[in-house]
Amino acid sequence: MVYNLFSIVRENTPQFTGNCSLCGLNAEHLGFCAPCLSAVQRQGQYCQQCGNSLGKQPFGATCGQCLKKPPRYQKLIAATHYEFPVSHAISEMKFEKQLHHIRSFSNLLIEEINDHYQDKELPQAIVPIPLHSNRLRERGFNQSQLIAKHLTRKLQLPLLDHVLLRVKDTPHQIGLKAIERRKNLKRAFAVKQSMPRHIALVDDVVTTGSTIQEASKQCLKHGVERIDVWCLAKT
Ligand SMILES: [Zn+2]
Ligand SMILES: [Zn+2]
Repeated sequence: MVYNLFSIVRENTPQFTGNCSLCGLNAEHLGFCAPCLSAVQRQGQYCQQCGNSLGKQPFGATCGQCLKKPPRYQKLIAATHYEFPVSHAISEMKFEKQLHHIRSFSNLLIEEINDHYQDKELPQAIVPIPLHSNRLRERGFNQSQLIAKHLTRKLQLPLLDHVLLRVKDTPHQIGLKAIERRKNLKRAFAVKQSMPRHIALVDDVVTTGSTIQEASKQCLKHGVERIDVWCLAKT
């Protein structure tokens, strides 16, 4: 099913949302004031598959890494870069429960999604990257699930929650090398029922992509043929 996403997004994206998510001054667009919005908007060229920076390669190109060994997902869409002040806002969101950032950064992500899917088939369901129950107890919420819920409401797409499960309590991944991350994440996910053909996996931050890769691996064993990744920030 192809939705007319452009009109959906235009109708539902709030233009004035009170205070700027980052500085607290009057928000002008998507929950940000004009200077903060220009500070968080992504500049430059990105690989059309994995979302990594392309440096001076032409727009729309695929990076060397994806050409050599493509990831299991087809497309990564990020609202912004994982750099200050975004990195600070995301850590406030996760560790200080500053959940207003979810709405503003998700709105930014919706603009990117809106641009990309104007003439393309939207995913059939939105699937949040789950937390292990121990981590969920510690934090009290799963930020990816909250982002996914926001996107679900705005984009009018189904949320597929509690189908992709985190069955292994992996240590914090911050500071680990890609190879260590991959090792930790082996068999970290399970899928408990069949999934639609085309899904969007939602995460807050994508760094090396190891988490998304491992989750994708399980989804592809359960009826999924195409995975798009939607995240608030990409390193
Ligand atoms: Zn601001
Ligand atoms: Zn790439």
